[in-house]
Amino acid sequence: MKVDPGALEKRIQMLLDDKQYQGHPLREALAQLWRLNEEQWARVERITQLSDSYQAMMMRREHSLSARFDKQLRQLEKITRISDRYQRMLRDMNLALEEASFLDPLTDLPNRRMLMRRLEDEVENSNKSQHGFAVTMLDVDYFKQVNDSYGHQVGDEVLMRLGQMMQQQVDELGICGRWGGEEFLLLVANQDDTRCLQLFDQLQRHISGASIDIAGISLSVTVSLGVSFFRPGEPLDAVLNRADNALYEAKQTGRNRMLRA
Ligand code: GH3
Ligand code: MG
Ligand code: MG
Repeated sequence: MKVDPGALEKRIQMLLDDKQYQGHPLREALAQLWRLNEEQWARVERITQLSDSYQAMMMRREHSLSARFDKQLRQLEKITRISDRYQRMLRDMNLALEEASFLDPLTDLPNRRMLMRRLEDEVENSNKSQHGFAVTMLDVDYFKQVNDSYGHQVGDEVLMRLGQMMQQQVDELGICGRWGGEEFLLLVANQDDTRCLQLFDQLQRHISGASIDIAGISLSVTVSLGVSFFRPGEPLDAVLNRADNALYEAKQTGRNRMLRA
């Protein structure tokens, strides 16, 4: 039979209040049992309350912990993004610096540093393949007069135009760069000697015949070239010195010409 706690409580209360049972030992026992029951209920209630507040506290703690964790995660993501951006920026800056350290700022052509690297690479290739390559030193004739007559700025512009002409002429057959001052170096690989000489001769004629127009001034310059071919096994200096000597000879014998060493 199912017990209705409300009805049972009422019934017990009635029995305890009934005068006819006053002093009866069973009534005293029932009264004690009832007090014990109430005390136990009060204890259960306290325990339940404690457990509820403990659970609520734990939930609040969990919430604040997860909020703090989320915040730290977001901060970490932000720092990672900044660090990625910073690293990309550093990499780009390094690349730009590296490029700048290999380019001549005036003509935008490879500078002497880069030319030296290419020459060293080409020496290595040639020693492996036993094929030579051509090196030409090119120097502008009487360039000091260009500066003296038209000013340094026009002189700069002339050097830029000459650089462009050389670049177009050599194109993909090799590399040309600024060796220093008004002196350029051209390197042509994988072509036979006749083709190289033809190419340099054409370049020399092309420059001498070109009219360079700068800010209303029309001028022309000539160049002298010293050509030499690398012989597999020899040091790099050897081919550079031969080209230099050939250039010196070209200057000595009247300029505006190409000589082969
Ligand atoms: P040569 O035919 O014997 O080569 O005569 P040159 O006048 O060209 O030779 P020289 O060595 O006497 O003079 C070279 C001149 O080139 C001197 C220098 O002022 C000029 N020069 C070198 N670098 C630059 C540059 O970057 N810009 C300008 N405008 N001039 C330069
Ligand atoms: Mg010169
Ligand atoms: Mg010179």
